[in-house]
Amino acid sequence: MEIWPYSAGVGIGTGLVHLILFLILLFRRGKEAREKLALAYLGFSLAWIASVALADLQAIFLPVVTESAGALIPVLTVALATGYLTCVALFLEYPFWPVVATAGFTWTAILLVATGYFLLVPPSLLPLDRIGTGSWVAFSLGTIVALTVDLFRSRMAFRRNRALYWLLTANAVLAGQALTLLPLGPLRIVGPLVHAAGAIALLRGVLSFWLPSVKAALRSIFRFLFLFAVTASLLAGVVLAVERLTAIWVVSSTTLVILLAVGVALVYLPLYQALVRLVDRLLAGVGFDPAQTLRDYSQTISTVLDLEQLARTAVQTVAQVLDVRRGALLIASETERGSLVLRPVPALGEIPTDPIELEPISPLLVRLKEQDAPLFQYEVEHHPVLKEALPREREGLRALEMEIYLPIRAEGELAGLLALGPQRTGEPYAPRIVEFLSTLAHQTGVALQNARLFAGLQELNARIMQLNESLRTAYERLERLDRAKSDFLSIASHELRTPLTQIRGYTDVLNELAQSDTLTREQIVRITENISRPVRRLERIINAMLDASMLETGMSFHFAPTTLAGIIRAAVELWQDALQERRLTLTTSGLDSIPLIRADMERLVQAFSNLISNAIKFTPDGGRITIAARPLDEEHFEVTVSDTGIGISKLDQELIFEKFYRVGSIDLHSSGEYKFKGGGPGLGLSIARGVIEGHGGCIWVESEGYDEERCPGSTFHVVLPYHAHRGPCRWKRPGQEG
Ligand code: ADP
Repeated sequence: MEIWPYSAGVGIGTGLVHLILFLILLFRRGKEAREKLALAYLGFSLAWIASVALADLQAIFLPVVTESAGALIPVLTVALATGYLTCVALFLEYPFWPVVATAGFTWTAILLVATGYFLLVPPSLLPLDRIGTGSWVAFSLGTIVALTVDLFRSRMAFRRNRALYWLLTANAVLAGQALTLLPLGPLRIVGPLVHAAGAIALLRGVLSFWLPSVKAALRSIFRFLFLFAVTASLLAGVVLAVERLTAIWVVSSTTLVILLAVGVALVYLPLYQALVRLVDRLLAGVGFDPAQTLRDYSQTISTVLDLEQLARTAVQTVAQVLDVRRGALLIASETERGSLVLRPVPALGEIPTDPIELEPISPLLVRLKEQDAPLFQYEVEHHPVLKEALPREREGLRALEMEIYLPIRAEGELAGLLALGPQRTGEPYAPRIVEFLSTLAHQTGVALQNARLFAGLQELNARIMQLNESLRTAYERLERLDRAKSDFLSIASHELRTPLTQIRGYTDVLNELAQSDTLTREQIVRITENISRPVRRLERIINAMLDASMLETGMSFHFAPTTLAGIIRAAVELWQDALQERRLTLTTSGLDSIPLIRADMERLVQAFSNLISNAIKFTPDGGRITIAARPLDEEHFEVTVSDTGIGISKLDQELIFEKFYRVGSIDLHSSGEYKFKGGGPGLGLSIARGVIEGHGGCIWVESEGYDEERCPGSTFHVVLPYHAHRGPCRWKRPGQEG
C-alpha cells in the first residue's frame, strides 16, 4: 500500500497545527522566558515535522531531498528533547536551567554541523543516527526523572497537579518523537499526530497559571468508560438473550426483542442513575450535604466565644467532610503602620504559631484585602505578582504547610483566614468544595469578631488584675517606707540620745570630782576617753545623716587610680577589733585579679565598710564573712560580701536600700555599733547604694530569706566599672530585662 499520501496528509495537518501554535505565541505581547522557550520549541517542531513529511515522500521528491530530510530527523529530535528539558527546568525553577539550555543546544549544534558535513561529504564516518537516538534518550530521561521527582516531592496539590500535567504532556511529546525516531516504517506517521497533541497541551501549560485538574479529567474518562461498559454489556445481553430464547420460546423474535427492550429500559434508567451516584461518590469522595453541614456549623459556632475553640470547630467541621489533616485560624490584626499581623491559632496538626507580618505594600496583603477570593499557597509560590512578596512573608506562610486560605470578613474588614492543609487524596480543592469552604469562612466572620472581642475583654481583665496587684504591692511598699519615715524620729532620738546621755553622765562625774578636788590625772584621762567615744559615735551618725542628705542633691566624687585590694583592706581595717571581739572570720579572695581601677577610694571604703559592718551586726558570733572579687566583662568586675547571718526576707531585699528603712520593729534594736543585731539609723545601705551608683555601678542583695535559727546568710553583690563614670550602670543583671 502506498503510504505517502497519508504521511503527506498527516505532515501537512500536524505542521499546520504547529504553525498555528507558533503564531499564537509569536504574536503574544510581553513574552516571559518560558513562553520564548516554548516558541523556540514550536519552531523546531515545525522543522522536524517538515523533515518527517519530506523523508516519507520519496514518491514526489528526489532522493537527495528525502534522504537529507531523513538525516536531519535525529538531530531535530534531539533539539526538541533539549528544548523540552529546558522548558521543564525553567518551569521547575531550577536555578541552573540556563546551563541545561546551553549544554543541550551546544550539543545539538555539534550534531547539526556533523550531519550537514556528512551530507555534503559522504560517506558518513559516524553513526549519527545512533548518537542522535542516544542523546535523545538521555535528554528525555532527564525530563521524565525531573518531573517525576517534582511530582513526588511537591506537597501542594496544585503544584502536584501541574507536575502531573507536565509529565503527561512530556509523555505525549516524547512518545511522538520516539515513534518518529524508531525504525517503524509507515507507523512513523503516528508520531507527529501524538506530538501535535502534546504540543497543544504544552502551549496550554505555558500560557495559563491554573491548569485543569488532571486527576479529575482522568476520573471523567474513567467514569465515561465505566458507564459505557455497563450500557454496552446490557445491550449485548439483550442481543444474546434474544438469540438464545428464540430457540426455546415459541414467541417471535420481534416480540421477544420488544419485551426484553421494555424490561431492560425499565431497569436501565434507575440502574444508570444509581451507578452514576455510586461512581461519583467513590471517585469524588463527596458524600456530604453542604447545606446541612453549613447549617449545623453556624448553629454550633453561634455560642463559641473562645478563639481556640472556634478554630477547632471550624477546622473539625471541614475535617469531618473532607479528608484534611492540617488546619488553623489565622487571626488578622492591623498595626499602626498599616501592616497586617496574622497570628495562627492551631486547630489540627502541628502548626507553628509564629505570627506572620505582611507589610502595607505586600502584594499578598493587597490581594487579601482587595479580593474576597480564596488564596492558594500555590499562588503564593508561583504567581508572578505574589511571588514578589518579601521572602520573610512567603517563608512564614510556607512554614504553615497549608494549601488554601479562605478570607474571613467581619463588618467588611479582613478579620482572619481559615487555613487548610492539602487533602489526603493529594488532589487540588475542586471548585464546588472551594465554594463550600468560602461560605463556611463567611459564616465564621461574626463568631470570630465575637471571640476576638471576648479575648480582648479577657486580656483587659487580666491587665486590670495585674495592675491591681502591682498597685497593692506599691501600696504595701509605700506603707512600709512611711512606717520607716515615722520610725525615724524615734530612731534618731534614740541614736542621738544614747551617746548624749553618756557624755552628760561623764561630764557630771567630771564636774563632781573637780569640785571635791579629788581628780587625779589618770581619772581625767579615763573620763575624757569615755566622753570622746560617744562623741565619735555622734559624729559618725551626724556624718551619715549628712551623706544621706546628699543622696538627693548628688554626692561629689573624686575619681583617681586606685586598687580594689587597697579599698577592701582599708574597709576591713576599720572593723578589725569588732571582728575579733565577735569571733568572726573574714576571708577575701580574687582581689588581686582586678587590675588598677579609677574610683573614689574614700567613698568606696565607706560603702564597703557599711556592708562589712552590717555583715558583722547580722551574723551570730563565730560566723564567717567572705569578700570575693571576679572580673565580669571588659568593662565591669563584681565584688560580693557574703555572711552566714540571719538573712533578709525577699520582701525586704529591695526596701533595705531605702533611707531609714530597717527590718523589723525598732524596739528590737540596740544601739551597739557591732553587737549582734545592733541597730543603726538605717542609712548604711542607702549610702552604699548612692556611692556605688555614683560610680556607674549597681548593688543588690540575694538571700534565701530571714531565719535567725538556720542563718541562711546574705550575699551583697556590687558590680563596678573599671573606669568609674556618671550615669546608669551599663551592666545588665542576668535574667533582668531592659
Ligand atoms: P543600719 O545603718 O541601720 O545598719 P542599713 O541601711 O545598713 O541600716 O541596713 C538596713 C537594714 O537591712 C538593717 O537594719 C538590717 O535589718 C538589714 N541588713 C543589712 N545588712 C544585712 C545583713 N548582712 N544581714 C541581715 N540583714 C541585713
